[in-house]
Amino acid sequence: MLKSGMYTQLAPVLFGSGTAGQAGEIVKSFGCSKVMLVSDEGVLEAGAAGKVRRVLERSGIEVVMWAEAETDCPEESVKRAAAVGRREKIDGVVGVGGGSVLDTAKAVSAVVPNDDQVLDDIVLYLTGQKEYANAPVPVIEIPTTAGTGSESTFVAVVTSDKLDCKIGLPVPPSYGIVDSELMKTVPPYITAFTGMDALSHASEALTEQKNTPHSDLLACEAIRLIKENLPAAVKDAADMEARDRLAFASSIAGISFNESGVHIGHSAAHALGHLYHIPHGVCCANLTPAVIRFAAKTYPQKMKRLGELMGAAITSDDPEVIGKEAADAVRSFARAVGIKSFKELGLTKEQMMAAKPMFYGDALCMAFGGEVTEQDAADILADAYEG
Ligand code: NAD
Repeated sequence: MLKSGMYTQLAPVLFGSGTAGQAGEIVKSFGCSKVMLVSDEGVLEAGAAGKVRRVLERSGIEVVMWAEAETDCPEESVKRAAAVGRREKIDGVVGVGGGSVLDTAKAVSAVVPNDDQVLDDIVLYLTGQKEYANAPVPVIEIPTTAGTGSESTFVAVVTSDKLDCKIGLPVPPSYGIVDSELMKTVPPYITAFTGMDALSHASEALTEQKNTPHSDLLACEAIRLIKENLPAAVKDAADMEARDRLAFASSIAGISFNESGVHIGHSAAHALGHLYHIPHGVCCANLTPAVIRFAAKTYPQKMKRLGELMGAAITSDDPEVIGKEAADAVRSFARAVGIKSFKELGLTKEQMMAAKPMFYGDALCMAFGGEVTEQDAADILADAYEG
């Protein structure tokens, strides 16, 4: 029998090259007339934020530009944006950027109609012990990287000062617009690590507790598309066929992991990213092989399928062999698209292992569909370091 489970998609997604041109009508359909456009410096320079701004203004929507979002969404930046949003009496938020921007936009949409206390109480919101006094204003998310899938996930990953870690504030997006045209300016290295982030979402969604045949289907197709198209997009930024397929892969990986979930790799990536400021996608790329090797002990057939999708000729049904061969395929792929190892990035083994308490203490770690002991966590970090 197939495993039972609920099929969900949090928010509608308009997908396709050029679809950002419809942002004005979509934003208006939520009754918004004055929105804050959240972005960052890089996306502003690349032209994507200005392009969406013009589309919105042509539809008669007043736009308050705020292009000061920061990497990994520090809570202080959310507070600054929300203060502007409150002063300007915005009635909606549009995020145009990578995951850091999309998460900032989501968090701002919840903080503006409430107050900064939302960020202090993030654990209470995440664990369902507290609900927003006032509903978040609509937030329309327009990714400019093919990586995070944040336009389809229920959390804004925020860097909390109080907790000194990355943690999710639950804020469902209202609508996502996934337009590969906005992604053609992403430089090769960022294309590579954001693509590997999407691969890690799909890989972990296969083995999270809530996985379903539906989330598996989306995850496997995302893996296939990333394997086939990431090298081309890294080599030639203007390969729009590859960009478009990667945009779709990132989107469906996001839908898959919002339904299922991510686990060990993301707990470790959040800890390492927070401690050593390594880009999220680079952490995920380097952790995924170790997580696959570990997961193969519980889910050999799923990891075999993953390995095959990544081009490995898996030579045995022994979980150890499957895990090693699938992990090797993902690691070689990451190196081929230019991802440096933790060692090459200058991290010492001691620094790597020092992330264990934060990593193992993170609730996401226990979302893997099987037991994860403290020794497993140490072994995964060591494997990710040596690999
Ligand atoms: P990012 O948003 O930090 O962006 C990386 C760089 O790419 C920035 O300098 C940005 O200016 C630049 N950039 C983005 N789009 C560009 C474009 N079109 N042209 C040129 N430059 C461009 O990186 P990311 O990997 O997209 O996001 C990472 C963040 O997302 C992390 O904080 C991670 O925790 C979070 N995340 C959230 C979720 C979620 O479900 N909410 C899921 C995965 C990751």
